[in-house]
Amino acid sequence: MDRQFKTVASSEITLSQLMLPSHSNFSGKIHGGYLLSLMDQIAFACASKFSGSYCVTASVDRVDFLNPIEVGELVTLKASINYVGNTSMMVGIRVDAQNIQSGEVKHCNSSYVTMIAKDENGATMQVPRLRLTRHEEVMRYLKAAERIGARKQRIAAEPFGGDLAKALAFMASDHADVDVATLSAQAENV
Ligand code: GDP
Repeated sequence: MDRQFKTVASSEITLSQLMLPSHSNFSGKIHGGYLLSLMDQIAFACASKFSGSYCVTASVDRVDFLNPIEVGELVTLKASINYVGNTSMMVGIRVDAQNIQSGEVKHCNSSYVTMIAKDENGATMQVPRLRLTRHEEVMRYLKAAERIGARKQRIAAEPFGGDLAKALAFMASDHADVDVATLSAQAENV
């Protein structure tokens, strides 16, 4: 059977949540872990909506908390599919927080989560192909493809190109306390 196409628009999801005191840490800011949980929820909903199947989280492409979120702010997460593989989908997520009284909105985080589609037996299953209808969607698709390539290179690459002497010298000159002589001797015996 031919693999069907689905639009990015058909995957779009928005989730808004008021930040309560129970979500905050001791200094009154919202716990990073709570945000991660909301992001995982919207990634699941988006991927599941697009694929029409159960989905699991495979990886998260970096989470930088750009701005702290205060109790009482309204957090909105927006998600859409950026890219699809055979059984995987990359979900782009944007998190904004709004001060409801002033209306001011701040960008708190953008992340890219890879989700895998599963059938009722837990086996991976094929997902629809992605129909791109807007310039923005094409740019997101291409950026996702680049991120995937960069990630594969990162995983394949050894630190400092595998040059142990350089790596040890770096650690000794950086913030680590390294006994270079002992480690060098250990490395020679490996
Ligand atoms: P971008 O990926 O470079 O466009 O960075 P952004 O921070 O603007 O957005 C991050 C991701 O959030 C995007 O790749 C989209 O997947 C998703 N996103 C951003 N804006 C929207 C929106 O208005 N609606 C929906 N559903 N998702 C959005």
